[in-house]
Formats: sequence, C-alpha cells, structure tokens
Amino acid sequence: MLLQVLGTAAGGGLPQWNCACPGCAGARAHPERRRRHASLALRAGPGHWYVVNATPDIGEQIEACPDLLPAPGPAADPRLSPLAGVVLTDAELDHTLGIARLREARDGVDVLATAPVAAAVRDRLGLGAVLGPYTKVHWRELTGTARQLNDQSAIKVAAVPVSAKRPRYAADLGPDDATWSVALSLHDTGTGRTVLYAPALAAWTDAFDKAAREADVVFVDGTFWDDEEPRRAGFSAKSATGMGHLPITGPGGTAHRLARLPGRCLYTHLNNTNPLGDPGAGQHGQLADWGLEVAQDRMVIEL
Ligand SMILES: [Zn+2]
Repeated sequence: MLLQVLGTAAGGGLPQWNCACPGCAGARAHPERRRRHASLALRAGPGHWYVVNATPDIGEQIEACPDLLPAPGPAADPRLSPLAGVVLTDAELDHTLGIARLREARDGVDVLATAPVAAAVRDRLGLGAVLGPYTKVHWRELTGTARQLNDQSAIKVAAVPVSAKRPRYAADLGPDDATWSVALSLHDTGTGRTVLYAPALAAWTDAFDKAAREADVVFVDGTFWDDEEPRRAGFSAKSATGMGHLPITGPGGTAHRLARLPGRCLYTHLNNTNPLGDPGAGQHGQLADWGLEVAQDRMVIEL
C-alpha cells in the first residue's frame, strides 16, 4: 500500500487566512511550518489514486504530488488524471469543498461516503445539482462492510463509525447516529496491511479501539494538544472534546491509548493553535517518549 500525506492541518489550514495567532504568525515567518488541510492520497492500483477527503487545497495538493499529476505513462493524454475519486470521512466543509474543484474531471469522479454524509454534501451543500452540468459524480455508499475502492483495486475500504457530529450546515439533518463521522479502515488484500485514518475523533469507541489494534499504521485526530486549548486561545467557549476532537493529552486524551497500540501512530489534522505546529516545541519530545509521531505534509508511507 502506498500513501502520500497531502496535508495535515485542521480547518483553516496553517496559517489560516484571518488569523494572527502565534501559530499562524509563525507559519508566515517560517514557510516550512505551513500545513495544508488534512488529506491523504492512496494508490488504488497502477496509475490510479483516491484521496481521503477533498479539501479546499486539493488543486495545490495535487500539484505538489507528482503521482497525482495528469498525463501519466507513455501514452500521453493531456486530460488523463490519475485521480479516480474521493473517500469522505465526514461532511465538514474543510473535507468536502474540494469536490467542487474537481468539476473539470473529464471521466467523472467517484465519491464514497456514508449515506448521511452523501446526502448532506449532495443535497444540502448542493454539490449534486451544482456539479451535474460539469462532470459525472458517481456517489457510492460507504458502510462498515469492506468494499473495493474500484473494480481494479486490491484496496478495500470500510467505515468505522465514530460519532454523530455533523457540520453546522447540516445540524438539523438525521439520522442521529455515528455514521456522520467515521474513521476509514484501508486494507490491502495483496499485502495484508491495514491503515486506519481518523482525522476527527470525537470518542474512542469499542469499534475504533478494535480497528486501531488491527492496524499497522494509525492516523489520528491531533487537532488540539489539550482539552482547554480552544478556550485558552479564545476562539471558542467549548473544550476540545466539546468541539468533537479528543485532545492528545490529559485524562481523556488519545496519547496514552495510542502508546499501547502495536502499530505506527501519527497525529494529523493539527489546529493552528496546537503547539506541535512549531517544530521547536517541547511537546515533540513528549510525543517521541510515547513512541508517537506527527504526520508531515508530503510524507510518503509505503507498507
Ligand atoms: Zn491562528
């Protein structure tokens, strides 16, 4: 299985356009600290790829990833793209707006999503009607039962329900169940290797725990370092947990759970207030002591 990390920031990116917090100011002063919205590219088979979540940065993310550039192979066709589709973990704007940027797709785009996420993006966000005149979007349902990414792929994907957290624009929509925000279990039937990708983890459920134990690589929600971070930074009256993101540290934190897992564990989806955005921060040493990592943009993982 071949993965390319396209971005590792939470909504807004790092820096965020309207923010001058120490994290955003630091990223402007030190361009190497910049992070694009969290996303992952996954090779489904020779010359064709899927992205996990389509972020507002998707065009720039593709440009920064040679494997995703158009006209692959010797029979150059200038509009032939290796990008076959998108798998969604939820309906949040920073994970779905990039679908609109794929409107030029000549051969259409596959979008795999759970039923409520697909309904929100297609009907409430309006991308179904908006994209129809431009390209063909093939909506395919993602459930807890593993299915092939496409007919030619050895990769199977399954949703691991995490929480009923839904985007504000879909707050009134049902159902009230954990298919709104899921982790993805990505299994290579050729190598037997499994990756678990969970950029938004509102609760450590039994189902998530089981999937995490079975995975060789686990990407986890690293939005906030501790539960008070959003309130301390002054941009929210809610705690991290209240915003639907388990913090890294503290009593309800994910670090101590991840440290006990057999697989390689990396944090992604860092908010611009997270001290881990500064490579010199002491928190990196703490993570290293626990055997945990921070994912970086343009990281390549082959397993
Ligand atoms: Zn900021």
